[in-house]
Amino acid sequence: MRWSQMHIPTLRTDPADADAPSHRLLLRAGYVRRLMAGHYSLLPLAVRVRAKVIEVIRQEMTRIGAQEFLLPAMHPRELWERTGRWEVMGEEMFRLKDRKGSDIALGMTHEEVFGTLATELNSYKQLPQMWYQFQTKFRDEPRPKAGLMRTREFTMKDSYSFDLAAEGLDAAFDLNHDAYVRVFERLGIPAIPVEASSGSMGGSASTEFMCPADVGEDLVVHCPSCGYAANIEKATSQLAEVADGPGLDGPERFDTPGVRTIEDLADGFDAPGERQVKTLVHVLDDVLTLVLLRGDHPLNEQKLADATGARTLRPALPEEIRQALGALPGSLGAVGVTGLPVIADHALRGRRDMFTGANTDGVHLRGVDVDRDIAPTAWADLREAVAGEPCVRCGQPLEVQRTVEVGHIFKLGYKYADALGIEVLDANGERARVIMGCYGIGVERAMAAIIECHHDDRGIIWPLSVAPFHVAVVVAQSDDADTAKAGEDLYARLTAAGVETIIDDRLERAGVKFRDAELVGIPLRVTVGKRGLAEGTAELTTRETGETVKIAVTDMVDHVV
Ligand code: ATP
Ligand code: MG
Ligand code: MG
Ligand code: MG
Repeated sequence: MRWSQMHIPTLRTDPADADAPSHRLLLRAGYVRRLMAGHYSLLPLAVRVRAKVIEVIRQEMTRIGAQEFLLPAMHPRELWERTGRWEVMGEEMFRLKDRKGSDIALGMTHEEVFGTLATELNSYKQLPQMWYQFQTKFRDEPRPKAGLMRTREFTMKDSYSFDLAAEGLDAAFDLNHDAYVRVFERLGIPAIPVEASSGSMGGSASTEFMCPADVGEDLVVHCPSCGYAANIEKATSQLAEVADGPGLDGPERFDTPGVRTIEDLADGFDAPGERQVKTLVHVLDDVLTLVLLRGDHPLNEQKLADATGARTLRPALPEEIRQALGALPGSLGAVGVTGLPVIADHALRGRRDMFTGANTDGVHLRGVDVDRDIAPTAWADLREAVAGEPCVRCGQPLEVQRTVEVGHIFKLGYKYADALGIEVLDANGERARVIMGCYGIGVERAMAAIIECHHDDRGIIWPLSVAPFHVAVVVAQSDDADTAKAGEDLYARLTAAGVETIIDDRLERAGVKFRDAELVGIPLRVTVGKRGLAEGTAELTTRETGETVKIAVTDMVDHVV
């Protein structure tokens, strides 16, 4: 490839409105352009990287025996109604009508369609099966963010496993787990597998692969001593189960002035009825307080105490945290217990960005918009409060890390088999339900995550495995015929040796070419210049270290290969 002929619209300065490094660099280095919020065009360099990411994933999927499919992006409403998810998916699902007035969903995930295909399986002998695809997913994200990190249409590698029994699913889950570890290793993403909850997918076990990044929207709690790692929702519910100790039964539980008992509070609530609340976690973006509640609504103190009690993780908040709380609007000082029924209601509806706290008069409730109403400085204090909690497993202090989810694997169980009728005949000729798992990696988000982890102030530093080109041959003086010829010659020989090479043959100053090669992130640069050629050498520069070595032109290809 020739730089002079490729469309690589690099920008001289940082684009406005792009704070995350990956977003800024993808724009600046000429990889993507924004069409509208959450929708990006991928330019030729990005297409090359994307193809490599896909190939790495495909190889690892093939290695565990998965078969590639390609399913439609548009799905009939009726199919999603069979699993109940036409309703459940709510506003995140894009919907449209065709000319006949039929409702159509733009696929945001493919359990329904793969599950339908699996109804053609009829014997246990055909199991296990592992099916996957690379497909565009559409999600009407409330807040598209950070370029390719959170878009409204993106490519997902999604796979689905079909097994006869739970042990089969366990094996498929482990295979995918290991495949994901290898994928992220090869992509240069230092992903941490963490325990997670299953969300709208339904099912039991679930593991998220989280890449540490400041731009991330997820918090991971991990223990450097024993390796325990879980996302914040999961960790807080597990912490709640082990939390115990003095102060839980005393008046501290109800330390809102004017409030004596939970009934006092419950009177003021519009309690959500007799719904069973098993685990309640109150997450204020970062964890502030959590409460575990097992019992029925309407709440009463006795029930709370009987059914394991309302336990607060932090029965006695340190003074500085109390002060931070006091500074919050609505006086959320007693949010742990006082807000229970309402918070429960919100938690059950899966709302994380909104919670309701009790006012100091104890019965008056108000909604608080976390993003709008809480001062960032208060968050910092609260974060401090969480770090250092003893660990779920080994009792050592926990650390909290900001991360982005790059992959997610689930044990789905029988939810889709039941809804769609996926059954086979077992060894005894009896009908048996098929148990499913599903496994997803976001392709473009992976690209962004790689950049978050591999860049410097000069630009992107692609790992060799996904770099758009391995080598950039920079002709320092393209207007000098001998230098240009030497560059062309090296370019031809590198290409013939199977090295993916781009030659910067533009009539630009060498400095401009160097800057672009660094910005774009090509791992190796071969510089061919007059002075070196006079002594038969060219320079080889490693992007990551900046290290440059002189090498005889005749040895260059052997050296690079
Ligand atoms: P998030 O918590 O970030 O919203 P998710 O849990 O909704 O992600 P899954 O349904 O588990 O995502 O999808 C599997 C993978 O698809 C994610 O791990 C991520 O890599 C990718 N992904 C999900 N949503 C997006 C998005 N809006 N833009 C880009 N990639 C995404
Ligand atoms: Mg999501
Ligand atoms: Mg998630
Ligand atoms: Mg997920």
